[in-house]
Amino acid sequence: MTLPTEPAEQRDLLTRCVHCGLCLEVCPTYQISGEENNSPRGRLRLWREEAEGRLPRDEWTAKYTAECVGCLACEPACPANVPYGEILEITRHQHVEQGRANPPVWLRFAAALAARPKLFSWLATPVRALRRWGVPAHRFLFRGNPPMWGSTAAYAQWCMEKYQPTGPTVALLTGCLMEAVFRELNFATVRVLAKSNVRVVVPASQGCCGAMHEHLGVAGVETLRSRNRSAFNSGQFDAIVANSSGCGLALGKTMRGEAGPPVRDVLEFLGEQFTRQPPKWEKRSPSARVYVDLPCHLVHGQRVAEIPRAVLDATGLSWEYAPMARDCCGSGGVYNLQRPLSAREILARKAEFLNDAAGDPVILATSNHVCLMQWYSARSTGLVRKPFETKHVIQLLDEALA
Ligand code: SF4
Ligand code: SF4
Repeated sequence: MTLPTEPAEQRDLLTRCVHCGLCLEVCPTYQISGEENNSPRGRLRLWREEAEGRLPRDEWTAKYTAECVGCLACEPACPANVPYGEILEITRHQHVEQGRANPPVWLRFAAALAARPKLFSWLATPVRALRRWGVPAHRFLFRGNPPMWGSTAAYAQWCMEKYQPTGPTVALLTGCLMEAVFRELNFATVRVLAKSNVRVVVPASQGCCGAMHEHLGVAGVETLRSRNRSAFNSGQFDAIVANSSGCGLALGKTMRGEAGPPVRDVLEFLGEQFTRQPPKWEKRSPSARVYVDLPCHLVHGQRVAEIPRAVLDATGLSWEYAPMARDCCGSGGVYNLQRPLSAREILARKAEFLNDAAGDPVILATSNHVCLMQWYSARSTGLVRKPFETKHVIQLLDEALA
């Protein structure tokens, strides 16, 4: 996808809003603030007034732009099909170019590192070690067992030799942060796919999906997209799968219009496999209760209706959707780093139920590593007092298979 950069093209996008206000009630920043300018309609109005020269560039427009989580809940709610996400991406880049938004140096550094996945992965070795040891190094770093050495690509090759799957072939996006810090989720994804008779290929030349650069509004998105187009167009696959909904959304935009296979969320893909051939997994841990939260970039961005029930049933655990499962948790890419107070306020509305949630253990499961980090912060910062675990749904499937 190439972003329109001509003023006329941008104005055309902005004029599509008919000011009906149907997007207001789904917008988390409007819900917590009650301010029109902190709503999709308000932001679109500010951007249009500026684009048409009726409003001078001022700090308030930049402030309300930065307050947007980028959850995209306003897009499916809009009867006029306003491409809000596309407009937001253009605006964020413009604000950085114009000096009206200035991402902190450490986030720019993180974005530069994300574009070099091997270096990022090597530098993140101590972070993986801290996660393994359970050292609470940061409010977002949930405990896990990421392999210290060995890439997902090498592990996938090993798994293919071991399990010899004969079904469809998928290309797996391994991501930057996922591979560097949360690698156990990639390994679990490979295992679940292999045991479900799916062949997994990890294209060697792939890189970061560019979502972080999009969220920050910094340069480099098109270079990353171009690299991934080459990587994922280079083989014969039945699907390209992603195990993090934000990365899947970004890669889907990258591959739009390409001749290759569709980009799918791995759980959506597995749901179809399981519907055709239901897995024979046992019921387990009767006292455990899984509360499933739906990532915004899965349901609003990729427009996947839900995490398939066939997949959730295959975990062998009692599960239900969390209250407000389709509402934003406040993570939004790097939003919870740039706007921690607003992100916490948005999360607090959703997380309250965990204080009284039934189950032993209580598990909050979702399918985006950034959402997992945000949910974990509810526990690590005391927003929720009752202990609960955070798990990717693919981990629950992996445990069921083990
Ligand atoms: S992307 Fe989310 S936070 Fe931003 S305006 Fe739309 S609904 Fe509100
Ligand atoms: S729902 Fe769409 S058309 Fe209506 S105010 Fe929101 S963005 Fe504008």
